[in-house]
Amino acid sequence: MDPVLSVQGVTVRFGDHLALNQADLSLAANETLAVLGPSGSGKSTLLRAIAGLEPLAAGRIESLGVDLASFPTHRRGLGLMFQDATLFPHRDVLGNVMFGLTMKGEKRGQSIGRAQAALELVGMEKFADRSVSDLSGGEAQRVALARALAPEPKLLMLDEPFGALDRPRREELNEELRSLCQRLPTAVLLVTHDHTEAFALGDRVMVLREGKVEQTATPTDLWRNPASPFVAEFLGWNVTHDAHGRVAAIRPDSITLTCELATDQERATVVARTFRKNHWRIRVETASRQILEVEIANSNSDRTLGAGGEGLAIGQSVGVVIDPGAAISFSELPLKP
Ligand code: ADP
Ligand code: MG
Repeated sequence: MDPVLSVQGVTVRFGDHLALNQADLSLAANETLAVLGPSGSGKSTLLRAIAGLEPLAAGRIESLGVDLASFPTHRRGLGLMFQDATLFPHRDVLGNVMFGLTMKGEKRGQSIGRAQAALELVGMEKFADRSVSDLSGGEAQRVALARALAPEPKLLMLDEPFGALDRPRREELNEELRSLCQRLPTAVLLVTHDHTEAFALGDRVMVLREGKVEQTATPTDLWRNPASPFVAEFLGWNVTHDAHGRVAAIRPDSITLTCELATDQERATVVARTFRKNHWRIRVETASRQILEVEIANSNSDRTLGAGGEGLAIGQSVGVVIDPGAAISFSELPLKP
């Protein structure tokens, strides 16, 4: 079957600036793809281009084998949701969710039923008659999600949907979104700058950098095998540069610190330590002046380190052991012209 979405060599320019540079992606029905990248990497531009809101300088966008070029936004079979809900203030909750259905020319009776079903999906069925101005931020985002889902789009596109909410609310909504994505037959394209969120929600994750697709992989493959120093660093790996211009990446949870220094071990000094619920994050500076971030699981029973890092003091000397299976050496960086 043709993919629900196929993006081929899509380029978007703003003047001289290439906001999207030959982007490719393919999305199957029922699949969730998380688009991950720093601010300004082109994530929103990609979604807007797919929605038909930005003209393409090059490339092609297809859905189920059909070129979307001549289809306006509302005929592309999309559900869209952005960081700010922007609900219609003069309509109640149900009226907001019915909006897309009415636009499609659906009969009022049928629209009401479908809008109520969409509100149920997001746990907001009791709010149907409420004014949207009374809603909390999280409730408003649920209503916006119901509005995007009500017309049963083939593809749901979410741009940092819960980015404006506080962390507990955001985690709760992400959890619900994940279960929704699994239950619904809809393909989902989700934009985020947070790799934890991308890993939790994406069946696959696509990393964007300055408008280019840097890597697309499942969360586990991406975490184990970042394809470039950029991806590695963005995911929180240690990226080191030696005097010969060689670049290596070392996964933070693959480094062991030892208190008993063997002669062949690299030595380092503890420069910082932070407690993070299930692990300690320890920063050390090695004898060769590399800074390494090390994650030590809190359940660590290694007596020499006390309870997973608590026993380490700033300024303390430690030995550094790196699991060779969790270190990647990248070829030398191309010389700048
Ligand atoms: P992201 O969503 O990843 O933060 P965007 O897609 O919004 O990034 O933007 C990508 C790049 O394109 C940025 O450098 C941004 O400044 C630029 N850009 C986005 N929209 C416009 C616009 N309408 N006009 C000019 N430049 C824009
Ligand atoms: Mg954006």
